[in-house]
Amino acid sequence: MPDRFDTRVLHEAERCVEGAASLPIFRSTVWELPPGTAYADIRYPRLNNLPNQTVVARKIAALEGYEAGLVTASGMAAILATLVGLFRPGDHLLVGDTVYGGTHSLVVGELADRGITVTRVDGSDPGSWTRALRPESRGLYLEPLTNPLLAVADLAAIAPFCRAQGLLSVVDNTFASPVFFQPGRHGIDVSLHSATKYLNGHSDVAAGCVSGSKALVQRITNKANLLGGSLDPQAAWLLHRGTKTLGLRVRHQAASALHVARWLEGHEAIARVNHPGLPSHPQHALASQVLSGHGACFSFTLGEPGRAEAVARSLRLFTYSASLGGVESLVVIPAKSSHAGMAAEDRAEAGISEGLIRVSIGLEDPEDLLEDLAQALAAKS
Ligand SMILES: *Cc1c(COP(=O)(O)O)cnc(C)c1O
Repeated sequence: MPDRFDTRVLHEAERCVEGAASLPIFRSTVWELPPGTAYADIRYPRLNNLPNQTVVARKIAALEGYEAGLVTASGMAAILATLVGLFRPGDHLLVGDTVYGGTHSLVVGELADRGITVTRVDGSDPGSWTRALRPESRGLYLEPLTNPLLAVADLAAIAPFCRAQGLLSVVDNTFASPVFFQPGRHGIDVSLHSATKYLNGHSDVAAGCVSGSKALVQRITNKANLLGGSLDPQAAWLLHRGTKTLGLRVRHQAASALHVARWLEGHEAIARVNHPGLPSHPQHALASQVLSGHGACFSFTLGEPGRAEAVARSLRLFTYSASLGGVESLVVIPAKSSHAGMAAEDRAEAGISEGLIRVSIGLEDPEDLLEDLAQALAAKS
């Protein structure tokens, strides 16, 4: 297989059935058991072994640089299966201090209640990882690009640190996508995604995925088979179709995002733009070393932060929504949506001000997005 992404995305795990370019959808929940079928070979949708599930999981795993994969009914189902598959009561985890809200609630709530303890660390500061270590530490869980401030984790340090300390490394690669970061090629043990976002990319499927070595993915799949959050074959087929355009979509979206971020940075109404591709970003150098692109989400604040809601609501092309990664551009105020559940002082400490606006850039012509932003910034409010 050639190594270039756009070729691999089309040819990994394809032509599995009768040479069909589009894998048929196998809806059947009943599969005949030939004599001597081993327990492990029983086919059933919840056991995550139907063709539409396994083929797209294999494709995504290959794109992420791994040998094995699993798809799940949501990103949270992937995160839950991974954490309970890899860790046990008594284990201690190092978890990024700005991880996705659902992940944060899961680890400080459900997992802590079941005896897995957590210390929050700064993903961009390996010193904070060392300071958090305990004799019972077993894992490091980070997001390469965080939401909504787009902090960049020290991705090159993860594998050597975890190997030296005997930890398993897990990254949530949703924001970077395998287009810009392939965790398996950086020695990271497990990568997972909310495939609801860039991997599917068309705002019409909820899904998750996990990739890693055969042994680790088997451990996680064994738990997923019991937890029950398997991906419906129809959704798996849509996800599979969505992935085929991943490289084209995400690179185009990222180029538009950088164009829009640069324009905003030069606009008199803007106080600050958080985009790792801008030299003003505190981890711009780190981002350029470890990522082959900067993603298509960023955030910004206005000189008059009290106008944030009015500006966001005056946009005509950007839909006001908390999701991201689809073909249409979105805008949201995290303090009033994705991060509204956080205590105000925790939010302030994390740098998520009330006036911060998060943007997910889609596939519209970027000049139209600039015109829309210009009219919203100029609107009387
Ligand atoms: C959306 C998201 C999740 C959760 O995924 P769902 O598909 O909504 O369950 C996890 N991590 C990140 C970074 C996300 O953006």
